[in-house]
Amino acid sequence: MRVAVFSTKPYDRQFLEVGNAAAGFPHDLAFLEARLSVETAPLAAGSGAVCAFVNDCLDRLVLERLAVLGIKLVVLRSAGFNNVDLLAADALKLPVARVPAYSPQAIAEHTLALILSLDRKIHKAYARVREGNFSLEGLLGFDLNGRKVGIVGTGKIGAVVARILNGFGCHILACDPTANAEIVAMGGIYVELDALLAASDIITLHCPLLPETRHIIDSRAVARMKRGVMLINTSRGGVIDTQAMIDGLKTGVIGYLGLDVYEEEDGLFFENLSQDVIQDDIFARLLTFPNVLVTGHQGFFTGEALTAIAAATIENLSSFEGTGVAAHQIAPVRS
Ligand code: NAD
Repeated sequence: MRVAVFSTKPYDRQFLEVGNAAAGFPHDLAFLEARLSVETAPLAAGSGAVCAFVNDCLDRLVLERLAVLGIKLVVLRSAGFNNVDLLAADALKLPVARVPAYSPQAIAEHTLALILSLDRKIHKAYARVREGNFSLEGLLGFDLNGRKVGIVGTGKIGAVVARILNGFGCHILACDPTANAEIVAMGGIYVELDALLAASDIITLHCPLLPETRHIIDSRAVARMKRGVMLINTSRGGVIDTQAMIDGLKTGVIGYLGLDVYEEEDGLFFENLSQDVIQDDIFARLLTFPNVLVTGHQGFFTGEALTAIAAATIENLSSFEGTGVAAHQIAPVRS
């Protein structure tokens, strides 16, 4: 099957080619640098499937264009599928498959990298030492041992984060409509979101972006937090209201902010814009705070995760070709 692979970076191509070569019947992967949109959808002409990533647009209009071109399957190289209009896909009888789990450790460990870097100010120390400045002024940190950490969403990634932080001697508070037995077994306590916000020294977000979780962390939520709290988001940008973060940083309620995702990251992250003027004033303001650390959606970016993503993507394509159903097809959503 010919597959139009949108938003291809060199590393995507490298890992997908290895995964494809390992398949019994390799697919004809057409690598495209373009992000999928209404304008770029025609590039999929002649393909049987489309392969997309987190910032590709799969709204109703794009899905309709793809269906007209004869696309029979959409495979996502991601776990999250908030960028797909599943109702529209269902109406068009266009199945959508994803990578349900590739390496929750990759994202969980990146979460810890953000927590530890912000706490011990590694990003500042690195720059200082390179300039011959070995002063410790301004680098004071705190022990993680004994701190209360609130985990919002205790699925695959949240559970690994809890396991690691439990090893650091943290007290785990959790909030999730479905309790995870592993969290309870390690002594974690499930509470309502408001109680978690009020009690936590560190809050880390691991819930999916859904209509009910959009801006779950807004100004009302910030008002409930402990002064000086550390907030980490490696889930999806839309889970937090960025303007409320800026306000919280200015008043000092938010003492540390670590972001791997941003609600307007589309067109910003994954690109080298070092010669450009950033037009997004909210994002530009975020970068001015000394206690904010932003990475450009790199939580998933380990060799192990990319190998697993490629393997599951090829598995989705092969199973669909063989049986008409992709291995990790997302259940249709009915209105
Ligand atoms: P998962 O489905 O295993 O877990 C998500 C958990 O969130 C579930 O337990 C669910 O019950 C819970 N949840 C749903 N609504 C909630 C709410 N209102 N409040 C609290 N909890 C709620 O998913 P996962 O594999 O752990 O991934 C979590 C998220 O991480 C993904 O949805 C994705 O958006 C994000 N992610 C980011 C990266 C990255 O590179 N930064 C990579 C992969 C995934």
